[in-house]
Amino acid sequence: MIKTRFAPSPTGYIHIGNVRSAIYPYLIAKQNNGKFILRIEDTDQARYVEGATELIESTLKWLGLDWDEGPIVGGPNAPYFQSKRKAIYHAWAQKLIDIGRAYADDTSSEQIQAYRDQCSAEKVPYLYRNFRPENPPAWHEGLPLRFKADPKPRHWHDEVMGNLEAGPEVQDDIILIKADGLPTYNFAHIVDDAEMDVDWVCRGVEYLASVPNYLALYEALGLKVPKLASLPHILGPTGGKKLGKRDGAKSVNEYRKDGILPEAMLNYLACLGWNDGTEQEIYTQTELIEKFSVNRIQTSGARFDETKLLWQNGQWIRRLVDEEGIDKFYLRTTDFWPDSAQAYPETYRKQVLSIIYDRLKTLADLRAMTEYFFTDPEIDLDLIVKNKFLKKISEEDLSDLLQKAAAALEKVTWNETTLQETLNNLLTQLDKKPAELFSLIRISISYAPFSPALHQTLATLGKERSLARIRQTVTAIENDNQ
Ligand code: GLU
Repeated sequence: MIKTRFAPSPTGYIHIGNVRSAIYPYLIAKQNNGKFILRIEDTDQARYVEGATELIESTLKWLGLDWDEGPIVGGPNAPYFQSKRKAIYHAWAQKLIDIGRAYADDTSSEQIQAYRDQCSAEKVPYLYRNFRPENPPAWHEGLPLRFKADPKPRHWHDEVMGNLEAGPEVQDDIILIKADGLPTYNFAHIVDDAEMDVDWVCRGVEYLASVPNYLALYEALGLKVPKLASLPHILGPTGGKKLGKRDGAKSVNEYRKDGILPEAMLNYLACLGWNDGTEQEIYTQTELIEKFSVNRIQTSGARFDETKLLWQNGQWIRRLVDEEGIDKFYLRTTDFWPDSAQAYPETYRKQVLSIIYDRLKTLADLRAMTEYFFTDPEIDLDLIVKNKFLKKISEEDLSDLLQKAAAALEKVTWNETTLQETLNNLLTQLDKKPAELFSLIRISISYAPFSPALHQTLATLGKERSLARIRQTVTAIENDNQ
């Protein structure tokens, strides 16, 4: 059975790249009927952030990346927090000590600095192993434990990057256990992946340079090397450099709060640097499980493109409304309405949603785009008199058009069909183009830059409110014209 894992550090901020390192192993596990493990790598106490583990858990759940082993659900290798597995690392460290492949390091940091300075003066790369003490003390907690490297040419296969090799110059006596008794990432992940029978290690390409050291460790411990897949960096929108917070890259949780749907986020991130060779852009989780393959992950950095994420989110909104229907989709929107909407019944909000959903890019767009369905908008005649279709019409004529429209609408049985008919008839009667007459009415009832189709907006707002707003606009134009 294939086992893959996601091994985040609880440092508080789950960025796009972290999550992509969860999606790919999840897909690999699921397409092989395997297991996906969540392991919390919390051995760096200085970087630990309170609540970060819960954030990781809720983000994975939100994305539908349920883990088969790990925190909450448990599993055969519990605990899944590295900070609680100290005895396991110490036992493995002892194996290395016993075979003469690890030693205690009591070199002071001043001494290490002196070695470094010496190397830079001699213009040679600093490698600790060149200063390896001849008679190290016996190891006990409180002293760092180092690996005794076996520097030699290393060859390996990376599932994304292909066949790779490295020389002895990049292999060193890396620290296995720190002075605080906790293991380094370098050691802990190897022990855990072995203990947890992990077959696939998918992680960011930043770990690639350390692989020669890891290979030496696998060898010394007599372990089979899991499949290694190095995921390329995610680059900022202009390419070139790694995506950073300064490029506006938000944490996944912020995208969630901004009304990105989990389906869209999963879709977008899975396709960030991967495609199945077709033009397909919208994938469900099931399709991703079916179609994903590691050897189609691109080796160069993938450019983060928020516009595409928003586009995909819009596509997902429409797709889910079609699939789930408004009543069910509405449940996803409850946090995103303007405050003024709270006073209205759900049926009304659902009605508004049903006419506006196909214009939303994010659920948070509901706040700005639906305000006028709940509160009377402030009249802003500039929106009318400066409108590109209306600015040629005199204020007198504008007022006249609105009055005639109001009079005709007054007589209508208020529903979408009759409203549409009446509006179309008005075009002929008043000899106006839709861009003129419909824009005028639309602005006078919404004072918003966009709205759903006019007959739907009117039908939803209701007769009384629509006519009152049109008439208030007439009064405003007349006052303005005096
Ligand atoms: N804890 C490491 C990180 O958060 C994970 C690397 C790995 O997946 O092995 O970057």
